Amino acid sequence: MKIKYLGTAAAEGWPALFCECEACRKARELGGRNVRTRSQAVIDDRLLLDFPPDTYLHVLKEGLHLGSVKTLLITHSHQDHFYPLDLLLRGNPYAHNPVAGILDLYGNDAVKLLYNRALAEENDGNNLTGIEQYHEVHAMDEFDTSDGYHITALAAAHKVNENCLLYRIEKEGKCLFYANDTGWYPEATWEKLKGRHIDLVSMDCTAGKGYCESYHMGIENNRQVKERLFQMGCANKQTKFVITHFSHNANLTHEELQQEADKYGFLVAYDGFELEI
Ligand SMILES: [Zn+2]
Ligand SMILES: [Zn+2]
Ligand SMILES: [Zn+2]
Repeated sequence: MKIKYLGTAAAEGWPALFCECEACRKARELGGRNVRTRSQAVIDDRLLLDFPPDTYLHVLKEGLHLGSVKTLLITHSHQDHFYPLDLLLRGNPYAHNPVAGILDLYGNDAVKLLYNRALAEENDGNNLTGIEQYHEVHAMDEFDTSDGYHITALAAAHKVNENCLLYRIEKEGKCLFYANDTGWYPEATWEKLKGRHIDLVSMDCTAGKGYCESYHMGIENNRQVKERLFQMGCANKQTKFVITHFSHNANLTHEELQQEADKYGFLVAYDGFELEI
């Protein structure tokens, strides 16, 4: 299984859209891995995780063919994870012959509401029947995608009025746990994680160094997640731990983040970061 991080920032991007803080100034000056777009990842070039407003930029930068993407898993309705208007462009006359056929979208009820609203209000009569299919997912649901991935939806601790989701993705004996945006996982999520070895844990690190009280995590929370996964037997020395979804308020360059992460054996994701499990 191959995972590629297309975007690794929190909602505002880094440098942030309107920001003149020191961290954003530095990111503009240094460029490279310090420039982070809104969070998104792709598995094996065909399963997409989240659909931020930077999706089009990711297509251009990484040479992606979104017409080949068969499955789209959405974590929650925050605008840095779901920008439904661009999904209207998969139908005629905006797109011809997407090779994957129907795109299967999976997400919670809040995401479904935004998707349906976009279809109803902005669609201009464009008919997406037979082009896209929305599947409503609840935490703890397990399902198989038509292209052979076994998915487990898990509960995040993120928005008070929405059942935000994390995803465990399995194929051919490999297992990825994609877990942002979230604070400390609810007990039901820990329970559901039991009994399955994870090859790659992708963790929320919005706060950067230190501890984040709620809704997100920092490196200290990540350390505790790693410790518990080891205790539960879900992770071992072969498991890769990646941190992602950084806010400019973390105020560390990529290099400084990596120095901090090295203390705990974490890899720091950056836009374009790719690894195989
Ligand atoms: Zn986010
Ligand atoms: Zn800033
Ligand atoms: Zn969020």
